[in-house]
Amino acid sequence: MKYTFGPVKSRRFGLSLGIDLSPDKKSCNFDCLYCELGKADTVRTIENPPPPEEILKEVEEFISRHGYPDVLTITANGEPTLYPYLDRLIEGLNRFKGSSKTLILTNGSTIGSGRIRNLLKNLDMVKISLDSALEGSFKKVNRPSDSVSLQEIIQGIKRFRQEFSGSLIIEILLVRNVNDSIQDVKALAEILREIKPDRVDIGTIDRPPAYRVKPLTDRELFSIAGYFDGLPVNVVARQTDGLEGKIRLSEEQIVSTLRRRPYTYEDIQEVFDEETQKRVRQLIKKGILREISVNNSTFISP
Ligand code: SF4
Repeated sequence: MKYTFGPVKSRRFGLSLGIDLSPDKKSCNFDCLYCELGKADTVRTIENPPPPEEILKEVEEFISRHGYPDVLTITANGEPTLYPYLDRLIEGLNRFKGSSKTLILTNGSTIGSGRIRNLLKNLDMVKISLDSALEGSFKKVNRPSDSVSLQEIIQGIKRFRQEFSGSLIIEILLVRNVNDSIQDVKALAEILREIKPDRVDIGTIDRPPAYRVKPLTDRELFSIAGYFDGLPVNVVARQTDGLEGKIRLSEEQIVSTLRRRPYTYEDIQEVFDEETQKRVRQLIKKGILREISVNNSTFISP
């Protein structure tokens, strides 16, 4: 499991097998305040990118052992569109994905490029983060590299909406006193009315963030959602979807999965079988995993 992790219980997508295109270190052209991967200098490309054939082999092996997950999610320890072989990877996934849907989670930084839009068109679902439509707040919350332009992102998303027939989801993550002002919210709502995404997810920090920043309350999120009237808004609240067929992971797989996405005890109980839960407890005892408290929830992470 060098390139795949999970399956992860995703709030909206079901059981999702994560595909990590940058397994060695965080590679992102943003350094978001809320990033759950920690602080890092921004980069323009993924260094030493893994060969797509090796990644595809691992995904095929997972499917042959566990069956098709609901979703094959292309992500990275950073930004997946910085991966130079994305064309070959998407082509390969489309050859054997069966009943699984393909999804990419991108920060949108490269969507201004026609080459990237052409690649992403071949996926079933594309989820793009857009945390602010105002230059000042965008820079504060996402801390992008100099090569990234907010206006190119917004224009790129608008064009992509016209070119893409799959499901386009926009994700907004709000950070207290950074991108949650009424001006911010109104500017985003106006842009999104032009884009017409299939869904807008509005959430806040709920995992350990890279910097000392604070989340909004659920009540505040619901109140902000009111500014997005006319749009298919989903306020992201922690919820428990019942999943059948719990998953068994080895100790190594548990550590690799929780490194990419910390889980709460409730998540662990819901997704993993008894044996895996026992292994998690042992790893905590050994000090390989630890508890982290965020926003009144306890997460388990290496
Ligand atoms: S875009 Fe994603 S991976 Fe990159 S810094 Fe922001 S949260 Fe982290």
